[in-house]
Formats: sequence, structure tokens, C-alpha cells
Amino acid sequence: MDFSAMIASTPCIILALLTLGYLGLCVVSPFGRCRTCHGTGRNRSPLGRIRRDCRRCAATGLRIRRGRHVINHLHDEYEAGKR
Ligand SMILES: [Zn+2]
Repeated sequence: MDFSAMIASTPCIILALLTLGYLGLCVVSPFGRCRTCHGTGRNRSPLGRIRRDCRRCAATGLRIRRGRHVINHLHDEYEAGKR
């Protein structure tokens, strides 16, 4: 492999490593912080005085990562295909 081919293939390798790293993160830690309440589970009212339970995360402060949704879908398809 010459130098120019190595330079040309570097972005592909980096993208593959980033994808595998993100999927590994989704396997190890499937939940992330809720973006609406920033992981607190409580949200300010529109007037800004009262703090209410976050409706998006049901006051847990957690959300399922998008990559974990993909993994769950692939797992469900695999299980459905085994029947
Ligand atoms: Zn929330």
C-alpha cells in the first residue's frame, strides 16, 4: 500500500472506528441524559417559576440512545426470523 492510498483510506477507517465505538457505547450504556431536562427529571414551567416532572423522560432523566434503538430493532428482527 503506497502513501496516497493510505491517506485516502484514513477517513474510512476513522468513520468505521467511530461507528463501532458508538455502538459499543450503546451496548455498555444504553441510556443517555434527557436533552429536555438535562438529566434532572424536572423541568421549569413556561413562566419559569414552577419545576414540574419532565414529560419527555417521565421524570427519570434518562433517554434511550439512537444507536440502542438500532440494536434493539436488529435484535427484534433476528428473533422474529428465528421462529
Ligand atoms: Zn427529561
